[in-house]
Amino acid sequence: MSENDCIFCKIVRGELDAEIIREDDQVMAFHDINGRASVHALVIPKQHVASLAEIGELPDTVTKRLLEASEEVARELGVAESGYAVRINNGLDAGQEVFHLHLHVLGGERIRMP
Ligand code: 5GP
Ligand code: ZN
Repeated sequence: MSENDCIFCKIVRGELDAEIIREDDQVMAFHDINGRASVHALVIPKQHVASLAEIGELPDTVTKRLLEASEEVARELGVAESGYAVRINNGLDAGQEVFHLHLHVLGGERIRMP
């Protein structure tokens, strides 16, 4: 999938609407369109990489920002104290649907391992 067709790249470019929570020059966070927990946000690098397999293509500062921004989003959405999970689905068995790297931030209720 090219960056032209990628739905998360379209959100970054402002071509597709999303409920944006925060963004900086490197990362963007928005609510998942099909939230599966009381809090379900997605944190993405603005630079397109398909999955963890390509994370080496991102500058180290972006990799760090993805994790920092996940904590910031959890705090902003009020679940930093109650707890939250950060999850990355990779490939078929994990159910990855969108091939632009993203971190799910899940909270507001007990998040269990599958
Ligand atoms: P994956 O299974 O690839 O880890 O998760 C992809 C996530 O992206 C899913 O939870 C899905 O609901 C969400 N998603 C798919 N398309 C859109 C969209 O157009 N906008 C937003 N905000 N979320 C989306
Ligand atoms: Zn993309």
